[in-house]
Amino acid sequence: MLGAIEAGGTKFVCAVGDDEGNIVERIQIPTTVPEETMEEVIAFFQKYPVESIGIGSFGPIDVNKESPTYGYITSTPKTAWKNYPFVRAIKDAFDIPVGFNTDVNAAALGEAKLGAAKGLDSCLYITVGTGIGAGAVVQGKLLQGLTHPEMGHILVRRHSEDQYAGKCPYHKDCLEGLAAGPAIEERWGEKGIQLSNREDVWNLEAYYIAQALMQYILILSPKKIILGGGVMKQKQVFTYIHNHLLQLVNGYVELPELSDYIVSPGLGDNAGITGSLLLAQEALLSKQTLQNS
Ligand code: ADP
Ligand code: ZN
Repeated sequence: MLGAIEAGGTKFVCAVGDDEGNIVERIQIPTTVPEETMEEVIAFFQKYPVESIGIGSFGPIDVNKESPTYGYITSTPKTAWKNYPFVRAIKDAFDIPVGFNTDVNAAALGEAKLGAAKGLDSCLYITVGTGIGAGAVVQGKLLQGLTHPEMGHILVRRHSEDQYAGKCPYHKDCLEGLAAGPAIEERWGEKGIQLSNREDVWNLEAYYIAQALMQYILILSPKKIILGGGVMKQKQVFTYIHNHLLQLVNGYVELPELSDYIVSPGLGDNAGITGSLLLAQEALLSKQTLQNS
């Protein structure tokens, strides 16, 4: 049996299941302070014979196995979790392999193996929610360099009529600062869900997302693009994104039919937790490989 944690800024989802993504049991725990939240996480997994645990975490996190702070949540604005040794906390409680990656990388893995990009060796998963983040599977593996990519903070060209300053605490008007849920709310004075029938809202949203997609396409050339997160529940945004993207790309790169290329998660809201199960499986397999070598 495999264990999975999808660690988010507002809630943790913990689940047990198998390597085909079948979830046997799951719980939700509010994200408060590590002492409280992790006590409940550990109590949950103590009830099951889990062989490994995969964590898909909010970040930034340290995913570099050579680093002394590997397995830590690093510079999050959630101060209680800053420099929190997540992997160590799990390993102290359960002496089993632990997989650790970003929430969006976990979701990208889930979608690549079992979701909308099943059968493809590359995809990009983007969440547009409280923040914007993306994970990429490239040639069958999660893309990682010095650390994990931070594709939500790229710079975009501002719309000439958009006076909103931007909400990113680091860059103000980066993509996340202009287009994540809290930016929509602050710019328009209402939550996204209340703005469903406002064409101007979603056209502007798509104006920014399409620019980001253009850049991801030019740099990574993913075989499928999956857009998840709360904001993307506004399905009408997809059509606006397609229109802006066609204009931006202007025929330079040949793309598949956009309604088939830029899609919602095949695993729905389970992309992250399912991907975390796959991270657990990867951790287990790599331990077995080490033992056999
Ligand atoms: P998180 O990013 O915290 O994991 P979500 O992906 O649900 O969670 O993102 C939350 C953000 O998405 C909030 O800013 C919220 O206003 C916005 N949001 C959630 N649901 C919707 C919706 N149906 N339509 C528009 N915006 C939404
Ligand atoms: Zn930023």
